Amino acid sequence: MKRVKNSKKIIILLAGVLLITALSTIASAADNPWDMWNTTNPEAAGAMFGMAMFTCAIFAIVWFIIWILVAIWVYKDANKRGKSGVLWLIIVILLGLIGLIIWLVVRGEKQASSRNCPNCGRGIPEDARSCPYCNKKFEE
Ligand SMILES: [Zn+2]
Repeated sequence: MKRVKNSKKIIILLAGVLLITALSTIASAADNPWDMWNTTNPEAAGAMFGMAMFTCAIFAIVWFIIWILVAIWVYKDANKRGKSGVLWLIIVILLGLIGLIIWLVVRGEKQASSRNCPNCGRGIPEDARSCPYCNKKFEE
C-alpha cells in the first residue's frame, strides 16, 4: 500500500514537471503563446506540433497508469465486498469512467442495505452470524 502511494506521488510530480517544461517551451518559442498555431514560420509550427504531440503522449501514459491503479482498486474492493473482482475489473475497463461511477453507486448501496438485527434492530453486516452489538446468535 505504501508503495502504491509513493508511485502516485512520483506520477503527479512527473506530470507537473512535464507540464511546466512544455508550457515554458511554448512560451519562449512564441511571442504570443496563444497565437502559436497562426505563426507564419512553418518550422516553428512543426516544432510546436511535435511538442504538443509529445505532451499529449505523456499525459496519455500518465492517465493510463492512474487508470490501472483505479482498476486494481476496484478489483480489490469488489473482492472485499464479496462481489466478482474480475467482473467489475472488466466493467471498469470497458465502460471507463461510467463503469467506475456504477461501481461507486453499487458499493455504496451494498453498504447501506445491510440487514438489521431482529433482536436490537441495529444495522449489521449481511453475512454476520451473530449481532456485534447485542451478541444474539442467528440461525442459518
Ligand atoms: Zn442485536
